[in-house]
Amino acid sequence: MTDIRPAVRFAPSPTGRLHIGNIRTALVNWLYARRSGGTFLLRLDDTDVERSKAEFATGIAEDLAWLGLDHDRSVRQSDRFARYGKAVERLRAAGRLYACYETSDELDRKRKRRLARGLPPIYDRAGLKLTPADHGEHESEGRRPHWRFLLGEPREIAWGDLIRGPQAIDIATLSDPVLVREDGATLYTLASVVDDIELAITHVIRGEDHVTNTAVQIAIFEALGAQPPAFAHHSLLVGPDGAGLSKRLGSLSIASFRAAGLEPMAVASYAATIGTSDPVAPFPDLAALVARFDLSRIARAPARFDPEELEQLNAKLLHELPFEAVASRLAALGVGGGAAFWLAVRGNLQRLGEALDWWLVVEGPIAPVIEDAELCAAAAGLLPAEPFGLQTWGQWSEAVKAATGRKGRALFHPLRLALTGREQGPELKALLPLIGRERALERLAGQRA
Ligand code: GLU
Repeated sequence: MTDIRPAVRFAPSPTGRLHIGNIRTALVNWLYARRSGGTFLLRLDDTDVERSKAEFATGIAEDLAWLGLDHDRSVRQSDRFARYGKAVERLRAAGRLYACYETSDELDRKRKRRLARGLPPIYDRAGLKLTPADHGEHESEGRRPHWRFLLGEPREIAWGDLIRGPQAIDIATLSDPVLVREDGATLYTLASVVDDIELAITHVIRGEDHVTNTAVQIAIFEALGAQPPAFAHHSLLVGPDGAGLSKRLGSLSIASFRAAGLEPMAVASYAATIGTSDPVAPFPDLAALVARFDLSRIARAPARFDPEELEQLNAKLLHELPFEAVASRLAALGVGGGAAFWLAVRGNLQRLGEALDWWLVVEGPIAPVIEDAELCAAAAGLLPAEPFGLQTWGQWSEAVKAATGRKGRALFHPLRLALTGREQGPELKALLPLIGRERALERLAGQRA
């Protein structure tokens, strides 16, 4: 038995930035490859040369890199037109491509007429019936043909979808697809099959908006004498209200998540767990996601994307991150205080960047708020000598309580306002040693420090 390593691909079109839906597809493929010891190919589907832009291709690479989704190989369809031309020749020689001359207006009218007669709006294969004389006439009118793939006699195309289970689509319900445009450009439907054959893709994992394409593409694989790969179609995203997200996806770009300061692992954890039988949960790194990955846990039901849930996941992730995981990013932000500072503040963060706000509170100068001058003066007098440790706050506040009779909120709130200038924040127990005796005394006296 030959041991074939799985090979998967993520095939975005560089006609826009990647959004959360795309990343879900990318991630499922990447996790599949990494879990199975297979390869992950990045394929840029840029056959639409007018709409494809270099800046979007760069954006895709940036977004994948930000998430840590590395690829083993990358190709661009625009580099492979010659390969597609060869496949077109083969299909033409086998009588599977036929020339058609309808304009899009004519096709539209045909569709409407069929619908009015209660028929499915599929192409009537008029191009197949053209005589050599008809062809000559069209050409002499200056019309150039586009080419359709002859799907053939009515039959069912079936496959065992690795997510959706057994699938069968009747060819009679499909239009013969256009594979070559008037200008000679090969369309995605064929290009994708040629690539999947030549790049030895074993598993095509993509959104369920491609289920119908799959039937057509299986017929093309067969016409090209190739064994189709395995297919898996995941459900699409819906919003918290259950409505489709397609119109809102533009605002859910990976670039906007990054700009908003979300953690890449929060986005990856969310994209990898929504729409699965696992609970939505933060994972510290991609390796942890790989370890739990199982295609069979992807649910058929639509995956619900809730921006609020992503926010919560981001916070939860930060609250659990060890110092080593963030040390270099904190340093880049100008945040000091080492692990003690990180452990003191992480539980209060929604975004990593907020650590800087708390660092500025520690380092000062801040404007202390003196709510109870008498209490603050007494507290200053009782502040022990350094070194301060995690037990200092408890001992000191007990002493202040005993001396002043203040307790509960009347004790803690004025001390917090004086020491930090804020109503709320990380535990004073952890902050006090970082603030230190000198600054604490100045702040208790109402001085900027
Ligand atoms: N470029 C196609 C898309 O973005 C790829 C579909 C596929 O995976 O074959 O939908």
